[in-house]
Amino acid sequence: MKYEPVIGLEVHVELKTKKKLFCGCENIFGAEPNSMTCPICRGLPGSLPVVNREAVYLAIRAGAALGCEINKVSGFARKNYFYPDLPKGYQITQSEYPLMSGGKIDTASGIVGIERIHIEEDAGKLKYDKDGSFQSDFNRCGVPLIEIVSKPDIHSSAQAAEYLKKLRLILLYAGVSDCKMQEGSLRCDINLSIRPEGQKEFGIRSEHKNVNSFSAAYRAMQYEEKRQKAVLDAGGVIEQETRRWDDVKGVSTIMRTK
Ligand code: ADP
Ligand code: MG
Ligand code: ZN
Repeated sequence: MKYEPVIGLEVHVELKTKKKLFCGCENIFGAEPNSMTCPICRGLPGSLPVVNREAVYLAIRAGAALGCEINKVSGFARKNYFYPDLPKGYQITQSEYPLMSGGKIDTASGIVGIERIHIEEDAGKLKYDKDGSFQSDFNRCGVPLIEIVSKPDIHSSAQAAEYLKKLRLILLYAGVSDCKMQEGSLRCDINLSIRPEGQKEFGIRSEHKNVNSFSAAYRAMQYEEKRQKAVLDAGGVIEQETRRWDDVKGVSTIMRTK
């Protein structure tokens, strides 16, 4: 059977503000671990977040450059989860009321719609040792991010790669981020499903989180398309799952099912 891939991308971009999103800590990459933190970005009791005007301004610049509408009402909420890179135990994000909606990027094989752009704070970083133990660096906690969520309008790995490159250039020219994938200031989640050619309904998608280079994203998508096809051709079913791409081995493995 011939299948067509359906791809939607969620891109996280760190904004190049002077300060973090809700506190006065400096937003700089590569500082001494845990030297750029305060009671607010560590979430100590009694600390109060105040939103950084420059972050909202840069996010709106990004949205304007992508043809988005600025929503009259937007707001922040807590997303609770427990993980050692998140000392607060929650992330402040705009899950329900994003700052911007709509927008698009033109590619050679069609327009890719942008569903929404919202602001959220980044989490810290874990540094793993060989024995599996790790140390937490909270400098990145509270660094402002925008998340740019595409519509599932992408129909090949090549089109996805073009979308990502154009998006990066637009954000660079808009002056909102340095978009350095090697430093993690631009990271991409890949949602991919396949469907029999001609079918309207979407298939079940898998997700790859935090892919951090264009070539890794491209290879992960190529691999995933083939993997899903092999499963379906063998009469199996695709599970909605999160997978991890190993760029050295050139394979992905399952992390968790939804
Ligand atoms: P979640 O919050 O679980 O990540 P979203 O509704 O925000 O879910 O969708 C995330 C991304 O997945 C979007 O970019 C969207 O375009 C894409 N997407 C949704 N359904 C599919 C599908 N069946 N196949 C491929 N991509 C999809
Ligand atoms: Mg997702
Ligand atoms: Zn702080």
